Parts: sequence; structure tokens; C-alpha cells
Amino acid sequence: METAENFLEDVPSQDLMTELLRRMKCATKPDKRLILIGPPGSGKGTQSPIIKEEFCLCHLAPGDMLRAAVAKKTPVGLEAKKAMEKGQLVPDNLVVGMINEALEKPSCKKGFILDGFPRTVVQAQKLDEMLERKGVKVDKVLNFAIDDAILEERITGRWIHPASGRTYHSKYAPPKVPGIDDVTGETLIQRKDDTPDVLKSRLQAFHQQTEPVIDYYRKKSILENLHADKPPHEVTAEIKKVL
Ligand code: ADP
Ligand code: AMP
Repeated sequence: METAENFLEDVPSQDLMTELLRRMKCATKPDKRLILIGPPGSGKGTQSPIIKEEFCLCHLAPGDMLRAAVAKKTPVGLEAKKAMEKGQLVPDNLVVGMINEALEKPSCKKGFILDGFPRTVVQAQKLDEMLERKGVKVDKVLNFAIDDAILEERITGRWIHPASGRTYHSKYAPPKVPGIDDVTGETLIQRKDDTPDVLKSRLQAFHQQTEPVIDYYRKKSILENLHADKPPHEVTAEIKKVL
């Protein structure tokens, strides 16, 4: 039987040390529960790993989870596939269930970054119920405010490393070798829904279904507006200022 001890035997010392140091640093960090809201291409996935690292949070992106489910042809994946290809939102109950389960992960103990959830007011209400049961609440909602006109170039130039969720851009954040992930050397892909046509539907879904969620959090006075059209390091600086 695989025990924790004989599993750890095979982990290189360097990795163990890095993990130990990370846990020591994280022990002193305050808990944080964050939501990132913004249209597709506004930079949520680019900023998430930076915030995750700084505050030792888990990063939950339902879009990434759904793409993994589609690739594995799980029941959730099979149900979500059509809506995703068309740039429509998948049913609320599908994502709510996924997020509820994911929040139980040990990596979410110090808090979380929800990147792409909630995207409807119903999802926001369900999240409130989930967190109430745990006796916690959302600390801040970061609104990645940006003009639609900028998004097509960002979306059509996006390249991703599916296993890690790392994001590149052919013009704004190119990998060292075109088409290759800097860290693993694996091949990068372009998302099937990152086309000008599907982007139109995704933006329509954002304006009709997700913008009311921004108001929902504005009324709770936990909303922070960011200038998401600025260069990535300036957006990072704005985020650090408000957190
Ligand atoms: P989202 O997760 O909100 O859909 P991403 O973080 O994946 O958006 O960003 C979309 C594309 O734009 C990516 O290719 C990314 O490299 C690029 N990008 C992200 N932030 C900026 C920025 N501030 N300026 C220019 N390009 C950016
Ligand atoms: P994203 O990776 O965030 O751009 O999401 C890709 C696709 O996954 C979206 O166009 C939706 O079809 C689906 N999706 C992601 N998050 C949600 C959500 N919170 N609610 C409904 N559908 C979602």
C-alpha cells in the first residue's frame, strides 16, 4: 500500500525543501477570499498565478476545469461541450457543483481566487450560501474593467499550456520559443473558442448575465475596479494596492 512516507521517499529533496519553505512563508499570510470578474481576455488568468503565489491561495477557474472535463469526456464535460463551443454559459448547477467540491481542497485552506465564477446572479447567491455554511465570506471582488474593442486582439493572440493554465500572447507575452511552454517545453495550444466569432457570443453573455453580478458586489461594498487595459505589470501593481 502507498503510504505518505514511501510516497515522499521518491520526491526530490529540492522539491521537498521548496514546498517546506513555501508552507513556512504561507503560515504568516492572512486568509483571503477573492473573486475576479471581467470579460474574456481581460487578464484574469494572467494575474491569478501572481496573486495565488503572493497570498498562498488556490486558483479555481471553472473554464479550465470544464475544458479538462470535455477532454476526458466525463458526464459534466459531455453536458458542457456544446454551450462552450458556442460561447454560451453552461447551466448554473454544473459549475456550482464543481466549485463547491473544489473549495474543499486542502490548497484552499488559506482562501481562494475564483477566476470566472460567479458569472450569473444565481451563481453569486449560491456561492454566498456555500460560504455561509463554512462560516466565511468573500473579502474582495476585482473588476477587470476594459473596453470590448481591445479584447479581440488579446483573445486571438492567446496561447495556453493546458496542463498548468499558463497563458501567453503572440505579441504581448510571447513564449521564448514560439508555440512552446517556457517551463515544461511542451506544446502550447490555441483555444477552439478563441475566435472573433465565438468571442461575440461570449461578450454578449458577459454583458447580459455577468455584468449584473458586478452590481451585486458593488452593493455589498466589496468591489474594486481595475484598469485592465493597462500593461500587465501595471495591473499587478493596482491589484497589490487594493489587496
Ligand atoms: P482572461 O483569463 O481574463 O480570459 P487572459 O489572462 O488569458 O484573460 O489574457 C488574455 C490574453 O491577453 C492572453 O494572451 C494574455 O497573455 C494577454 N494579456 C493579459 N493581460 C494583458 C495586458 N494587461 N496587456 C496585454 N495583454 C494581456
Ligand atoms: P473561460 O475559460 O473563463 O473563458 O470559460 C470558457 C467557457 O466555459 C465559457 O464560455 C462558458 O461556456 C464556460 N464557463 C466558464 N465559467 C462558467 C461559469 N461560471 N458559468 C457558466 N459557464 C462557465
